[in-house]
Amino acid sequence: MSFKKLGLSDSLLKAIDKKGYSKPSLIQEKAIPAILEKKDVLASAQTGTGKTAGFTLPLLQILSHGQKYRRRPIRALILTPTRELAAQIQDNVIAYSEFEDLRSMVIFGGVNANPQIRALKNGVDILVATPGRLLDLHNQKALSLKTVEILVLDEADRMLDMGFQRDLNKILSVLPIKRQNLLFSATFSKEIKKLANKILKNPVSVEATPENTTAEKVNQKIYRVDQKKKSELIIKLISEGNWKQVLVFTRTKHGANRLSKKMVASDITAAAIHGNKSQGARTKALKGFKDGSVRVLVATDIAARGLDIPLLPHVVNFELPNVSEDYVHRIGRTGRAGASGEAISLVSQEEMTYVKGIEKLIGEQLKSEIVDGFEPTMTASNNARTSANQKNSRKPKSKRNTRNYKRSSKR
Ligand code: AMP
Repeated sequence: MSFKKLGLSDSLLKAIDKKGYSKPSLIQEKAIPAILEKKDVLASAQTGTGKTAGFTLPLLQILSHGQKYRRRPIRALILTPTRELAAQIQDNVIAYSEFEDLRSMVIFGGVNANPQIRALKNGVDILVATPGRLLDLHNQKALSLKTVEILVLDEADRMLDMGFQRDLNKILSVLPIKRQNLLFSATFSKEIKKLANKILKNPVSVEATPENTTAEKVNQKIYRVDQKKKSELIIKLISEGNWKQVLVFTRTKHGANRLSKKMVASDITAAAIHGNKSQGARTKALKGFKDGSVRVLVATDIAARGLDIPLLPHVVNFELPNVSEDYVHRIGRTGRAGASGEAISLVSQEEMTYVKGIEKLIGEQLKSEIVDGFEPTMTASNNARTSANQKNSRKPKSKRNTRNYKRSSKR
């Protein structure tokens, strides 16, 4: 399959060529023709599948070929949960629209709103936004959404997880009723289905697992260790293993700050990325991590969601998430693009119940090891668990679980 066969215009093909893409990804193959036919689309796709181009390319074509307006009212609205994701989408929109007569802009919170308000006055065809800032500026009458023809909800599941449901409802209430809707989500909870039912009309469903195989190549391991010894252990693993690009997840923002400071004190370049950081600090940390000047990025789940960081060799769970699905999302960040990767979890006694939940979800037992000098303080329940595991030879609990795991871990 070629991009040309999908019905994309020559100017878009030129932009795609410039990006160096030789053929469409699976999600692009399925979503682009449906969107070009102006259908509503419900897409199950995660970061890493090429979903951004999957909705951006046909959206640009529709707008380019549609009626021209002198004052450039907002005709396409792309909503996304995090600032980083918004900025990434905007980078894509800019690249793909290089040869189109279309103007785009991104707005998100955490930065001064005035330059955004001024820029909006000049008119934009495509607006990429996070819900909070969009509503803010809408309330200030800095923008109107009455002319939106295409609405994209990207990472809709995370938008709901982050508590944007009410903001979303308000935004939906000021959009024109007649419009094309595209909903992208990695997971499909009851809430997402409800949202999809509310928004989409006769949607075409498309589903894609990323082409980069990951799950099979991710080497997953847990190290049993006491909570208070975790910092020392992770520093040892990174230093002695000479790990170069490590994404570490902590449960809290303070935890991320603390750990990043300890790493720096041990001569490991590190930065923390979470919701309390200024936009400038987040962008700088991400840039440093991508260009290799920052060896370790310590992140909370929400901050890490959707970041386009390809080819991560190491992901470490400094603490396990209490939601098993988040574990799958986290480890999906390693072993991307066909490369192998390692996902390590540092697990204290208190977290053993999370391990059970995760193992149940993925239908697989996690290899457990203890590093010399970091033996956890043994308790009665510890022993019980060890002998229970030995009896329990691991087979996937069910086909369905395994399939879900593979699908959702490929990000
Ligand atoms: P996304 O899932 O949209 O975050 O995209 C993941 C990565 O895949 C980005 O770095 C894109 O630039 C890249 N990408 C998107 N489409 C293609 C394609 N057809 N061929 C190769 N790379 C692509």
